Parts: sequence; C-alpha cells; structure tokens
Amino acid sequence: MAAAPHVVVVAFPFASHAVKLFRIARALAAAAPAATFSFLCTAAQLQEQQKKSTLLGNLRFVEVPDGLSPSSDGAPAVPPPHPMVRLKLFMAAAEAGTLREALETARASAGGARVTCVVGDSFMWMAAKAAAEVEAPWVAVWTGGPSALLAHLRADALRDDVGDKAASRADELLTSHPGLGSYRVRDLPNGIVSGDMNSPIVSLFRRIAEHLPRAATAVAFNTFPGLLPDDLTAALAAELPECLPVGPFHLLPFPGNDDTVETSVDPHGCLDWLDRHPARAVAYASFGTVVTAVAGNPEELRELAAGLESSGAPFLWSLPKESWPQLPPGFLDLERGKVVPWAPQAAVLRHASVGAFVTHAGWASVLEGVSAGVPMACRPFFTDQKMNAQLVARVWCFGTVLEEPMTREAVAEAVPSLLAGDQGIRMWEKMQQMSGMAANAFAPDGGSRKNLDKLVKLVCGEL
Ligand code: UDP
Repeated sequence: MAAAPHVVVVAFPFASHAVKLFRIARALAAAAPAATFSFLCTAAQLQEQQKKSTLLGNLRFVEVPDGLSPSSDGAPAVPPPHPMVRLKLFMAAAEAGTLREALETARASAGGARVTCVVGDSFMWMAAKAAAEVEAPWVAVWTGGPSALLAHLRADALRDDVGDKAASRADELLTSHPGLGSYRVRDLPNGIVSGDMNSPIVSLFRRIAEHLPRAATAVAFNTFPGLLPDDLTAALAAELPECLPVGPFHLLPFPGNDDTVETSVDPHGCLDWLDRHPARAVAYASFGTVVTAVAGNPEELRELAAGLESSGAPFLWSLPKESWPQLPPGFLDLERGKVVPWAPQAAVLRHASVGAFVTHAGWASVLEGVSAGVPMACRPFFTDQKMNAQLVARVWCFGTVLEEPMTREAVAEAVPSLLAGDQGIRMWEKMQQMSGMAANAFAPDGGSRKNLDKLVKLVCGEL
C-alpha cells in the first residue's frame, strides 16, 4: 500500500501572506484527512496563526529560521527595523539552505514521511528547487492580483513595446498585449517599464516570473471562476501550467468556518459599533498591512482624515497605531468616527451597515470587497495595486479611483457618492450578482469548490 501523502506548505512570512497560505493549508488539510500537512513559516508568524485559528490534527507547524543571526552571547537576534532589510535577510537565508533544511525537519518530525508535494507562496520561488531536490512536484500559490502576475510574466514584451517612453505613453492602453488591454502603461507595477529595475522587490518578481511557467505543476489563484475578464484568464492560461482559481481565500472551507473564527477576533469592538448604524451608512477605510508602514505619507493621511470628516458619513478606519499621532487634532474624538489599529475586515465589510470601502486595492481587500458587494474608492500605491484599482473601477465598474495624491475634496465627494449617490447605487446593484457568485464559490457545485477538489487530488498525488 502506498504511504499517505506528506504535503509541505511553504509560506512567505511578510505582510499578510502567511495568513493567506495558512487558509490554503487549512482547507487542504480539512479536505484530505488521511494526508499529513506541514506548514512552514517563521516562528513569529506560526505563533500568530496559532492564536487565530483552531488547528487540525493532520496540520502541523515547522519553523523556518527568520535569517537573523543571534548575537554572540546567544541572546535572541534583534530584528532590523526596516521590513525590506528583514525580507532580504530571510530570502537570502532561505535560498542558501534554510528552506531545504526545514523540509528535512518536516520529514524527520513526521516520522520520516517523505515529502510528496510542496505547495508554496510564489514569493518563495526557491521552493521550486527544494521540491525538485526531494523529487516532489511544486504547486505555487499567487496571492496577489492576477493581472499584475500576467504583466510580470510578459515583462520582456512590455519593455520591448514601451521602451523608454513610459512617461510620454503613461495614459496609453496596452491593447497590443493579450489580457492587458484594459490597463494603461501607468498602471503597470514598478520595475517593468519604469522605476528602479534593480530593487529587491523587482528582482523577486523577476525570479517568480522565471520559475512559475517552467517549474510549477499548477498555480492556485485567489479568485473564483467568472470574476476575471475572459481575455485575462486566457492569457494567464497561455503563460502558465494549470491555473486553479480557488478563492475567495477568506471563504475557503474548513471545519468551523462559519465566520466565527474571523468575527470572534474583534478586540476593538468594530462589529458592535457597526450594529448601531443603519444599513449602508458607514464608510470603512483600510490600507492593508504594508502601505501605511512603508509608503503612507502623513500629508495624504491628513487629507483622508479631513475628507472622511467632511463627507458627513460615519466611518470606521483601521489604521496602525504608529500613524495616529499624524491625525489632525481632535480627530480621534469625533463622535461620528471610530479609528482602530486592526479590524476583522472580512466581517466588517459583510456587515449590513457598511456601504463604502476606501482601500489601497490590495488583492485580498478587493476580493473581500467584491464578496461583500461593497463599492470601493481605491487609492493604489504600488506592486499590483494600480492594476487592481483599474479592474475595480474601469473594468467591473465596482468603484472609483482616488487619484494620487488623495485630496480631502476627492474623499469627501467619493464617500457619499458610493454610499447613496446614483452612481454608488448602480455599482452596489451591479456588485450583488458577483457577490452572490462569491458566496456560492464553495457550494457543492461551485466553481472554486471543483478547483479545490482538483487541487486536493493534485497535491495528494491522485492526478
Ligand atoms: N486586514 C484585516 N484587518 C485590518 C487590516 C487588514 O483583517 O485591520 C486583512 C484584510 O482583510 C486582508 C489583508 O489583511 O485580508 C490585507 O491583504 P491585501 O492583499 O488587501 O493587502 P496587503 O496587506 O497585502 O497590502
């Protein structure tokens, strides 16, 4: 009899990536109880996931070192303050061997069970090599916007086309590139036709684009069949091996996922506060887990605050506490608003009182907004966000874009218009069908359910 599968799931331990991979690991482990799943991540992130979720018997945690050297007296390493430095150290160590060693630890600690498949966040491109060394297939997960991945995969062709004319052709649509015709040159992620081509993040995307087409057995996406434009889906299918939309990730099924896990973690009382408001009255604002720390600028933060205040609408704003001192005096005491350092976002967006979402257009946020049927005002900053915002506003017509730099006037106009204006109501109505499709994605005959079943078979070696 063949040994039971042992699937290693490799997370990328920065921003909100680990939780996304953990959702995949949990859903796979729940669907394949006879297989063993080892979830590989740094100690700090493993602790976070453990705090938030119930564990399944066949899903175990294995630590990958964070790449920081402990001091000579054995005291724990002091993490460098800048996230980009931590990222570089972690990636260099993973490439040099810590990931391969963690795979070996996973094997040894699972009673010597050979690793039969490696599922990994695409950002951990070196997992392709580690998987090949143990003769296991590599199944990649792309957590970001699919259109940005297509742009990275087609980077050479885009560069050949645009050359050094990115500035003068900024508003041109990329109509000669299959799947990218709805995006302008200016929407492309940094480092493709403009910006610093040698930054660590740009090199990372280059590595991903090199590895996915030739080394991955399949690529799982945070989307559901029917959401993406057909030309984008077709262009991705032409570039990659099997593409499997298995999203929205926040709705991935596992025992007890009746939303209680997310909603029970509400330390700042967001949901109680929302309960006190009528339907579609509140604007929710959040810029995800990276933007405020890395790119947020105090001037725009104050503009957003002033815009929310003069919009006249009640608002809930998830904003890291470090940024609170930059808010206008008295802003935190406004009766009409609530500022929190963290909110259970998916549950907040689903709350009946939320009618507008001011977002950086991070892909998970976009999917959560679409699933909840809440129109969005997007202020994108970097990576995939500009393409995501374009998709939201111009392709789907599910929202608007707040041009850079965001002004108080633009916010004060967009919020009431999304909440109660004719355009907002039309968007909201248009979104309800897609929101229904998202809700049914994991029903027994749902599109993502079928893809998830296929993914389970694939990672368990049954296909
Ligand atoms: N998030 C949350 N509460 C917050 C802020 C963020 O639950 O207060 C979650 C949000 O629901 C989403 C993720 O963090 O799932 C952010 O991912 P996204 O891809 O939108 O942006 P990123 O953080 O990667 O820029």
